[in-house]
Amino acid sequence: MVLFHSTNYNTPDVGLKEAIFKGQAFDKGLYMLNTIPILSESTIHSFINLKFNQISNIILLKLFGKVIPETDLKKIIADALDFKIPVEKINNFDYIMFLDRGPTCSFKDIGARTLARVMEYFLNLEEKDMVILTATSGDTGGAVASAFYKKKRIKVIILYPRNEISDLQRKQMTTLGKNIIAIGIDGKFDDCQRYVKTAFADKNLQFLNLTSANSINVGRLLPQTLYYFWAYSRVVKEINEKVIFVVPSGNFGNLIGGLIAYRMGLPVKKFISAVNENDEFPLYLRRGIYQKVEPSKHCISSAMNVGHPSNFARLIDLYGGIIDETGLIHKNPDLEKIREDIFAISINDESTRRTIKSFYQKYNKIIEPHGAVGWAALQKYRKDNLRFYKIKAISLETADPAKFPDEIISLIEITPKIPKSLEAIKNRVEFPNPIEIEKYEDFKSYLLKNF
Ligand SMILES: *Cc1c(COP(=O)(O)O)cnc(C)c1O
Repeated sequence: MVLFHSTNYNTPDVGLKEAIFKGQAFDKGLYMLNTIPILSESTIHSFINLKFNQISNIILLKLFGKVIPETDLKKIIADALDFKIPVEKINNFDYIMFLDRGPTCSFKDIGARTLARVMEYFLNLEEKDMVILTATSGDTGGAVASAFYKKKRIKVIILYPRNEISDLQRKQMTTLGKNIIAIGIDGKFDDCQRYVKTAFADKNLQFLNLTSANSINVGRLLPQTLYYFWAYSRVVKEINEKVIFVVPSGNFGNLIGGLIAYRMGLPVKKFISAVNENDEFPLYLRRGIYQKVEPSKHCISSAMNVGHPSNFARLIDLYGGIIDETGLIHKNPDLEKIREDIFAISINDESTRRTIKSFYQKYNKIIEPHGAVGWAALQKYRKDNLRFYKIKAISLETADPAKFPDEIISLIEITPKIPKSLEAIKNRVEFPNPIEIEKYEDFKSYLLKNF
């Protein structure tokens, strides 16, 4: 059986199902694979001739173990990942992988949609019901709402700060109905987060079987290995050919997906972890001292405004160290090996904007702020490593430019085309706010009365 340990090592190991339903371990660590399965060179090379779903079936079967039988897992993957993940050649040796073609147009769809179906699968087997409670500052709420929409035995409650999110972001949550309940509050994201945390700790609410579906859940993390194998198989020719991956990083879930793929045998020359002005990781690699950026800096790549990434604990764990949730290192990782595998660089807003502009001028294509942070990082790496110029690089685009129209219009004077899934939401009718919450007790009595 595949087992998971907590990155804090203060709680017993668990299987996949428990890791998924717990989300975070009791000792506040994150769950991580005890052993990472390894694929042979020839298996990985054979992916060249396979489709995305065929590759994904092989990988997830290895990562999940036999907890979900192969035929069921295949159905889950086919249903969850039913959109394209294009890998486009930009110039001789550089490619972009577009992870933004899911229903909410961000790469988070891949993890969230897989997790939703896996949870539904387990709940059906056990004939149990569950309530997912989540706070959002904008984008996560939409991805979770869409992923869990109409899933049996699961109700989703999302708290959002009414005056701090865009109309489109709100509509992604409020127009669905059925099992999705979105509650706007007159407060900040931190207030939403506080209500959610208090509810999780409230003994009177335990009967509700409350769970979170946030990005630290292994059920969201493990599917993020799939597209690394996929992109690799689209660009290489030789067996064991190495490539470079460029990952725009915020909470580091995307990067950890890549690092797990690498440990499984994927031939990678280098990961480039591209962060915005929240530069705790590049500084850590340079100085060997970890210091969170507090408060986090506001950059135009807003989904990456994280000054103390939760998944950093998993990175340190992968390299033999221990760091707790407060950012204190208890055991040093193999820092030299991290430096060998990963090049981390901070890209400021000015350079991000310049990159969106120059990319458009050069290639007549629009990239958005997160993808642009990645592309800018790749240019810097290329310039400093001319001897590797023939090694192919795959840069990840994590959202659709239409989610950031103002920025794009002001830079290149073009309105990005709105994908169908976003366009449809614009004209849908919203469900009214189900309750006005002024204090935690309001929220609690709503939960007790209605669930
Ligand atoms: C969440 C997000 C990121 C950051 O991904 P992490 O896994 O948190 O590093 C980057 N781009 C977009 C568009 C996102 O939504």
